[in-house]
Amino acid sequence: MSSNKKTYMVTTPIYYPTDIPHLGAAYAMVYADCCARYRRMREEHVCLITGSDEHGQKVQNEAKSRRKTPIEYADRMVAGFQNACKKLQVSYDTFLRTTQESHIKVVETVFEKLKASGDIYLGEYEGWYCSTCESFWPNTMIENRRCPRPECKQSVESLHEGGYFFKLSAYQKPLLEHIEKNPDFIQPKTDRNEIIAFLKQGQQDLCITRKGPVWGIPAPSDPEFTIYVWFDALLSYLSAAGYGEDSFSLNWPPDFMVIGKDMQKFHAIVLASICMALDIPLPKTILVQGWMISGGKRVSRSAAGSANVVEMVDEFGPDALRYYLLRDVPPGANFEFSTIKLTGRLNRELANDLGNLFSRSIAMVIKYCDGKIPEPGKKGAGERNLARIFKEVKNEYKKSMDRMDTREALESVWDLVDGLNKYIVDNAPWEQYRNGNFDRLNTSLYSIMDYLRIITLMCMPFMPRAAIKMWRKLGFKDALWVKKLDGVNPDLMPPGQEVKMQSPLFPKVELS
Ligand SMILES: [Zn+2]
Repeated sequence: MSSNKKTYMVTTPIYYPTDIPHLGAAYAMVYADCCARYRRMREEHVCLITGSDEHGQKVQNEAKSRRKTPIEYADRMVAGFQNACKKLQVSYDTFLRTTQESHIKVVETVFEKLKASGDIYLGEYEGWYCSTCESFWPNTMIENRRCPRPECKQSVESLHEGGYFFKLSAYQKPLLEHIEKNPDFIQPKTDRNEIIAFLKQGQQDLCITRKGPVWGIPAPSDPEFTIYVWFDALLSYLSAAGYGEDSFSLNWPPDFMVIGKDMQKFHAIVLASICMALDIPLPKTILVQGWMISGGKRVSRSAAGSANVVEMVDEFGPDALRYYLLRDVPPGANFEFSTIKLTGRLNRELANDLGNLFSRSIAMVIKYCDGKIPEPGKKGAGERNLARIFKEVKNEYKKSMDRMDTREALESVWDLVDGLNKYIVDNAPWEQYRNGNFDRLNTSLYSIMDYLRIITLMCMPFMPRAAIKMWRKLGFKDALWVKKLDGVNPDLMPPGQEVKMQSPLFPKVELS
């Protein structure tokens, strides 16, 4: 790996500490993980960043109600969350906690730097504050002293206090220009348009401190103020990328940021303006997720849905859950989660199409070739047809994955699965065996195993655990996760390799 090659940086949202991620968070992590795994296959140096946003009044209150200190509370939540990441097979490189020393140092450095440049100044805040969302709200957005966020609507407190401000207004124009010049900066288009419309209304400077002792990072050289939790959390991407260190220029900017719907303005406006103020490049692409709907309710950090992600992984396995989310959720659009549809995908596509394809193919190699991959003979029309299907599939797969359309990528993989299932029916290796046509039989079985190898590699970013099982069934003993896209080519299956039967890949699930 070349040491001065830019890292491909993928980020998930930085989560408020809960021990079990809600469905929307789980999807964002699986989606970002799939992207990271694919980029690793493309021989890029990848850094997948996730983390937890642990400061603020809310954490302080939660801890107090449990008779814990804030950090004790956060430690416990973070441990649970990391366990959920593991269950979902999320291969993060960095888990950034906003309570860690290195991050606190970055926040202080950035604060001082922007204060010196005049981008942060001391002023007077007059307006409203919602302690549930930890958000400042201007007079114009408040009705009946209630928080304007539809999923919150809690009563807000009137604030009139001194505070430090970030000069957001100074970046309104350059940011609009940047958004207009870079159509991929904010995706999807609907969110891009929303941000443009919002920016065009004009930007007020943002109050970035709270007065008094709040669980958080004190303003450097003015500790009666605590840095506002959102400002602190947004800087976690910089600290995860090593701001202030030599490595920073190789890591920054993030190539692909996956964020939640309710965080679009903080990222697309505030973080982008901070980057401008610091004179560092802006993130390349910010993908705003849609809402996840479960049991008729919108899932968010404040209103968790009924579905428990960890229980679901235990019931369906990480692969089926990942497959369903990546196969069905349209990136950037709303999605209604359904365990009935998840079960359907598992039983039909995973158990029937892919799982049976594996077990019957391996059974044939065991029965007709003593369990060893045969040496192929001359290719015929059937093999040429398979090669033609594969060429199209590979093209589509790469094209879709480069723009992170996981639905289309999986659809193309299943074109190959279907093509291979049809090839088996058309060529009927059992008849070739019965007729003593061993040359054809060897060619058929070799081709089947060779394409199963390719399918395994293509499935790796989506279903890493199942892909390892598939890899072992095919008799490979080496590590799968280091494999690159150049392996996604035919005729690379080593003849003589011994296959293994083992247990079914995807046991079916019956809905109770
Ligand atoms: Zn609120």
